[in-house]
Amino acid sequence: MSLNLLMLGPPGAGKGTQAERFARVKGIPKISTGDILREAVHTGTEIGLRAKAVMDRGELVGDDVMIGIVRERLERADAVGGFVLDGFPRTVAQAAALDGIMSSRGPLIVVDIVVPEAELVRRLGGRMICDECGTGGQIGSAVGAACANCGGSLVQRTDDNQAVVLERLKVYHRQSEPLVEYYRVRPTFRSIDGAQAPDRVAADLAAAIEAAGSVAVRPGAKG
Ligand code: AMP
Repeated sequence: MSLNLLMLGPPGAGKGTQAERFARVKGIPKISTGDILREAVHTGTEIGLRAKAVMDRGELVGDDVMIGIVRERLERADAVGGFVLDGFPRTVAQAAALDGIMSSRGPLIVVDIVVPEAELVRRLGGRMICDECGTGGQIGSAVGAACANCGGSLVQRTDDNQAVVLERLKVYHRQSEPLVEYYRVRPTFRSIDGAQAPDRVAADLAAAIEAAGSVAVRPGAKG
């Protein structure tokens, strides 16, 4: 059975890091809509040009654009055996569209990563990303330090400055937090503590997925 995982949580919860790690272990693609948009901005596609201003304000790119991107990405051959979605859905409309896309595929396992707000602000302020390959660096690395993945330079994301971070957290509470209620009623929903060390979070994530997966395969369970 395919492993279709969806990571929920506010910006800075560690979704990307954990999604990357889990996807690598399982040999399935990590699909991050933030990464896809940053790549589009980097290469200067039409979607990228339009998304840049929205992203720099900390707001959300339109549902239709995002749903189109994810629909197309999930159709690719590498996602047939499963995937880890990071950063999508971010609105109830996106979640409803994803349910439509998934109706002919296996169930979704949904894991919400919970982290206190003060810790999120601390992490986002010190977060670094490679300007070449997009890999996240250590929190608090120096600007210009070498990326461990490709040797490129670490920079701060343009939407990680303090004013934009606060806006992104507001947008999360208003538009994305309702998704927790949307999915909580499903037997394949799990919540984990993201304020622990990354290895502990990874272990809790793997255990939550295992538990949710065993519910998903039980006849009559609705994922
Ligand atoms: P992230 O890397 O997930 O923090 O995403 C960075 C930015 O990309 C967000 O602040 C949004 O502007 C945009 N973005 C990423 N995913 C979505 C989505 N599913 N819906 C709308 N906007 C998104």
